[in-house]
Amino acid sequence: SAGINFDKLGKVDVKVSGEGEFTPITSFEESGLRDYLLQNVKKSGYSKPTPIQKYAIPIIMEKRDLMGCAQTGSGKTAAFLLPILHNIMQENRNLTPGKPQCLIVAPTRELVIQIYDEARKFSIGSWVKVCLAYGGAASNHQSNKIGSGCHLLVATPGRLMDFVNKGIISFDDLKFLVLDEADRMLDMGFRDSIEKICAHETITKEGLTTLMFSATFPEEIQRLAGAYLRDYIFLTVGIIGG
Ligand code: ADP
Ligand code: MG
Repeated sequence: SAGINFDKLGKVDVKVSGEGEFTPITSFEESGLRDYLLQNVKKSGYSKPTPIQKYAIPIIMEKRDLMGCAQTGSGKTAAFLLPILHNIMQENRNLTPGKPQCLIVAPTRELVIQIYDEARKFSIGSWVKVCLAYGGAASNHQSNKIGSGCHLLVATPGRLMDFVNKGIISFDDLKFLVLDEADRMLDMGFRDSIEKICAHETITKEGLTTLMFSATFPEEIQRLAGAYLRDYIFLTVGIIGG
C-alpha cells in the first residue's frame, strides 16, 4: 500500500493528553470492533494497526472528542472510520432520508472520494449507506442518493453548506462529525464554512462526538479545537528520525 511502513522506521513519538485512561491496542482483534469490520479490515490487507490507529481507535470507541495530529500516510482514515462504523452498526439501522449519522468533511474532491472508497470497503455487504457530496459535479445525483438514505456522508465544505442551505441535508441525527485535514481546509479558505458547520444550530451538542485531524498544529487549529471540541483528547503521533 501507499502508507508509511512503520516497521522500517525507528521510534514513533506519541503524546496523549486529556482526561481519561486509554490503553492503545496492539492488534485489530483486541479493539472490540465487531467481527464484521475485522473481517473487512483483513480483506483490505491491514494486518496490524498503525501507531495513530493503535491510540485513536480506543478513544473513538469511547465516543470521546479527539484532536489527532499525524503526518500524511499514517493511516488516519481507518483510525476514525472503523470505530465510527462500529458505532453506527450498533445503532438502529433505520434512517431518516437526508439526516446522516456521521459527517466527514475534507478539503478536496479527491480526498472525499478516497475516504468514501475506504468507508465502502469496510462496510461492504452491510446495510450502512455511504454518500458523497462535492463540488465541480452535477448536484442532482448526489442529492438524490442522500435523499434516499445516508448513514455516513463524506463532503467538501462548499457543496455541504449548499445542501444544508437547500434543506437537502440536516444535522439533526448527527452522532459523529469529523474534520479531516483541518489545516489544509483553513489554508484553502474554508474557515467560514468550517465555523458554520461546527456552530450550526441543528448540530445537537448533546451526544455529538467531534474529531479533528490535521498534519500540523498551528495556532489557528489549536483555536478551532478549543472552540468546538469538548473535553477532548489531544493525540499527536510523530516519527523521530526515519
Ligand atoms: P492519512 O489519512 O494519515 O494520510 P491514509 O488513511 O490515507 O493516511 O492511509 C495511507 C495508506 O496506508 C492508505 O493506502 C491506506 O490504505 C494504508 N493503510 C492504512 N492503515 C493501514 C494498516 N493498518 N495496514 C496497512 N496499510 C494501511
Ligand atoms: Mg487522510
